[in-house]
Amino acid sequence: MNEQDFDVVVIGMGPGGEHAAGQLARAGLTVAGVEARLVGGECPYWGCVPSKMMIRAADLLTEGRRIPGMAGASVVSPNWAPVAARIRAEATDNWDDTVAADRFTDAGGTLFRGHGRITGPGQVSVGTEVLRARRAIVINTGTSPAIPPVPGLTGTPFWTNREIIEAEDVPRSLVVLGGGAIGAELAQVFARFGAQVNVVEALSQLLPAEEPESGELIAKIFTAEGITVTTGVSAESVRYDRNDGFAVSLKDGSLVSGDRLLVATGRKTDLPALGVGAIGLDESAHWIPVDGQMRAAPGVWAIGDVVGHGAFTHMSMYHAEIVINDILGRPHHPAEYHAVPRVTFTDPEIGSVGLTEAQARKQIRAVSTAISQIPTSARGWIHKAGNAGFIKLVADSDRGVLVGATSAGPTGGEVLSMLTLAVHAAVPVQRLGEMIYAYPTFHRAVADALSQLG
Ligand SMILES: Cc1cc2nc3c(=O)[nH]c(=O)nc-3n(C[C@H](O)[C@H](O)[C@H](O)COP(=O)(O)OP(=O)(O)OC[C@H]3O[C@@H](n4cnc5c(N)ncnc54)[C@H](O)[C@@H]3O)c2cc1C
Repeated sequence: MNEQDFDVVVIGMGPGGEHAAGQLARAGLTVAGVEARLVGGECPYWGCVPSKMMIRAADLLTEGRRIPGMAGASVVSPNWAPVAARIRAEATDNWDDTVAADRFTDAGGTLFRGHGRITGPGQVSVGTEVLRARRAIVINTGTSPAIPPVPGLTGTPFWTNREIIEAEDVPRSLVVLGGGAIGAELAQVFARFGAQVNVVEALSQLLPAEEPESGELIAKIFTAEGITVTTGVSAESVRYDRNDGFAVSLKDGSLVSGDRLLVATGRKTDLPALGVGAIGLDESAHWIPVDGQMRAAPGVWAIGDVVGHGAFTHMSMYHAEIVINDILGRPHHPAEYHAVPRVTFTDPEIGSVGLTEAQARKQIRAVSTAISQIPTSARGWIHKAGNAGFIKLVADSDRGVLVGATSAGPTGGEVLSMLTLAVHAAVPVQRLGEMIYAYPTFHRAVADALSQLG
């Protein structure tokens, strides 16, 4: 065993871990970063970045297909190869993280490749190395795809987000288990590139964490684009045959089949493998509980997906800032979750923040809501093809502030920013209604909805 002392040991170099490790090293602390796969985590290699590159390509194709009705004739034919090549290049050639690793070591950090395991207070082992953390252990181990216990699934060559992101060909047909953000985004990409896509969601709507109107809108768009959508039914069993591909029997007796199967049914942590029992934490828990400073135990902080406050890169980075300040003894606000923004990058984009109407009605005495439609707004009317969307506001009528909002539309994720600010800073609804909204923008639909709140 080789023992080394550091001020801070960061286990898992996802977006927040990489950021915290680099910043703490730049601040003069001795920092060890431990990474089992690639520095940067899921987001740059198998998550946000490559999936959004695929989406950008699929959206361009679809915009091209809209040209005939809007700007004359055009011929647009899909070609997946350049998309796959760009993703491969962006993942610095075959999923190599040299650039990210160099960024950390240039900041003065020491990188350990391998699986980190907590073996006692202030102690992490990586292979034959024992790293002692004088000041802090920061856990940023993220999540991996959760595979549901569907009979027949284990042992088949199903895809998760990792394999589909690495796909070099578009399959003729694709079954997507799970209609959340990841499943919905990738279903639309592959359908637009020519696959016959079937999406199966066990809950009653697509995008189950979002407003029912969001799920309905995306189901309508998917159906119009030729994607088959089944909701409220789960998979009963899976059969795979090398020649015939996948056949998924659903609990309503129906059967869906495809050359490929994407499992996008959620994410899971692996706390036993991390050894958190050695610092008194419950290894059977789904997430690591933390306080507002992201502290999980004396001398231990946890950030990102692993704490269960939202599996988003911006959440991991937000947590990292809190931890950097807390470890360096700088003043900072504790973590707040009343205005967490989230965007599903389908076309139309579904941006949302804070509470849904159903969540608000459980927590708040007097709730009022309003909806305005993008197609009947001036900008939506001008935009025409691809203008589907709406703004939904959820207000606490007693306090006179928004507690949640959805912005669905061609740039729903961008329009969301003003709604995030309104919920975050509790800007009075009356004051929001007095603001000047540039004409003719998509965000003027926010003013239309506000006028209904009175
Ligand atoms: C297809 C897809 C699309 C997504 N799109 C978006 C999006 O558009 N916007 C968004 O905000 N989020 C998106 N996400 C979510 C986003 O990728 C994650 O929330 C983000 O990566 C933050 O995760 P994290 O910081 O918790 O760590 P992760 O990124 O999960 O990284 C954790 C790291 O820890 C390492 N690790 C784990 N255990 C150990 C151990 N014991 N020892 C050493 N290393 C270990 C892992 O190898 C990994 O590199 C998407 C995810 C997927 C799968």
